Amino acid sequence: MAEMMKRIALAERPKGEVGPEHFRLDQTEVPTPRDGEVQVRVTAMSLDPYMRGRMDDVASYADPVPLGGTMEAGAVGIVTESKDPRFAPGDKVFGMFGWASHGVLPGQQLRKLDDRAPMNTALGVLGMPGFTAWAGLTAYGKLKAGETLVVAAATGPVGSMVGQIAKSQGLRVVGVAGGPDKCKMAVDIFGFDACVDHRAHGSAKDMRGALAAECPDGIDVYFENVGGPVLGGVLPLMNLHGRIIVCGMIAWYDGAQDEVARMPLANLWRMALVKRLTIQGLLQTDHVARYGEFLRDIAPKVTSGEFKYVEDVVQGLENAPEAFMGLLKGRNKGKLIVQISEE
Ligand code: NAP
Repeated sequence: MAEMMKRIALAERPKGEVGPEHFRLDQTEVPTPRDGEVQVRVTAMSLDPYMRGRMDDVASYADPVPLGGTMEAGAVGIVTESKDPRFAPGDKVFGMFGWASHGVLPGQQLRKLDDRAPMNTALGVLGMPGFTAWAGLTAYGKLKAGETLVVAAATGPVGSMVGQIAKSQGLRVVGVAGGPDKCKMAVDIFGFDACVDHRAHGSAKDMRGALAAECPDGIDVYFENVGGPVLGGVLPLMNLHGRIIVCGMIAWYDGAQDEVARMPLANLWRMALVKRLTIQGLLQTDHVARYGEFLRDIAPKVTSGEFKYVEDVVQGLENAPEAFMGLLKGRNKGKLIVQISEE
């Protein structure tokens, strides 16, 4: 009997919060590669906040997943058959295989992995999220020793890399994370100077007070991952010529309308003018040409243990929807990965 491939498809588009009814697990035969293509058994896939946006049928920087289509994801796996001379069975690769146990992609869309770092690091610390942090800071951060940087989702793969890069360049680094355990992780594992629990400071006013206590000289760089009350607390503390790198706004991905979402635009505009802020959108795909530079800079720091990373590994493709819903609620501790088969 032909080998079967499991995949998770988008069954329905969510209106608000994501639920199990929006996904469907099904099976098809493993596709056969044509000339130039490579067949892969996926060992692990990444779950990332951007996937929430792909579930909505709205204009964005990328097309939505079509109804019935396989949910999108970056994944690592082992080549099982190759019609591209650059790849051979047994090679370890990264590619956009989606939420699936197997896949076929053109060889030019795959990246071969070496054995210097564990395979799953290509999904997190040395993959797209780590690269996003590095690209955003090196292109737009204008970091200076002695300045103060704030980043939320501080223990996730983007936030923890942002914090560690900024710390290594002599900044005071203050994280924001959900709950005392994650705050402890930010300080003890990732070396943040301090971390504010956003669950204990649920309004913009409370968040402002808590951040002000940890940022006595104000905030020079805000790496924006979340929006919501955290952003509301940060804005009044921004220093003259401050930089805000807008990377994500997970608090609003489900369409939540909090006090900050409703804040008059005129206030923000006035603040941008008075403080001469630079507000810079960041899309990691704009920077892919610098991926090699990122690996040359960061991979040695990761393999030497100078930069830390934490992975939260869920077993089994069928558990991906539940894990993804947890990610949107902050239930992951570190980079969320679904292990699909053995390496
Ligand atoms: P992550 O940290 O692994 O997971 C998301 C985290 O967001 C959750 O664990 C949770 O952490 C936090 N969160 C969820 N809801 C929140 C809320 N209402 N208020 C405050 N925090 C909340 O995610 P990641 O992969 O590192 O990504 C971080 C951000 O970067 C996301 O916004 C993502 O969309 C963005 N991103 C953008 C690009 C780009 O090219 N622009 C690329 C990659 C990622 P806590 O429990 O600590 O709050």
